[in-house]
Amino acid sequence: MLRLRTDLTEPDPEVNISNLDPRAPLVLDTRELGRRPGSMREMTRTVPAPPDLGIDVLGVAEGAPVELDLRLEAVMEGVLVTGTARATLTGECARCLEPLTEDTEVGFQELFVYEDHAHQGEGAEDDEVSTLEGDLVDLEPLLRDAVVLALPFRPLCMDDCPGLCPDCGARLADDPDHTHDAPVDPRWAALTELKTHDD
Ligand SMILES: [Zn+2]
Ligand SMILES: [Zn+2]
Repeated sequence: MLRLRTDLTEPDPEVNISNLDPRAPLVLDTRELGRRPGSMREMTRTVPAPPDLGIDVLGVAEGAPVELDLRLEAVMEGVLVTGTARATLTGECARCLEPLTEDTEVGFQELFVYEDHAHQGEGAEDDEVSTLEGDLVDLEPLLRDAVVLALPFRPLCMDDCPGLCPDCGARLADDPDHTHDAPVDPRWAALTELKTHDD
């Protein structure tokens, strides 16, 4: 995952160097917690989905509403973010290619470590640690991981979707009794289609 390497700049706890936009919908300001362990804040917000929230065949359309329930808790080393996100996935069935929509609800939790604490960390694990940028937390990578992890490996329009007819490509769910007297030779299939158009 691409994450800002805050350690490329000289750490200076007096100055909040941040590349995050505090007005961005998925950026949270933790200033109110005042770095007091035990202080907590709960919030609910609906944000437009960022681009690429999902995978090619299934995901939350960019700009579609994502409802977030969030709890921010100050702990010794940072801010613990716990939340759930609800959104509608759109995509297509892996078997019959029919468009599908599906509601999803995912939970996530992540400890965002204060920058000055992160720099003391055991170097090797540094990349694994999410850090606050000043008072700001970027929820987007966390949300994206949670949504992608919860996606079905092969989205289906229904559990037992029969897929497409191997002979003519018809969607079998629409026509369960669909049969062919004899396997259709692809060359004949093209002719049959021409004839149908003539009728
Ligand atoms: Zn299907
Ligand atoms: Zn068929």
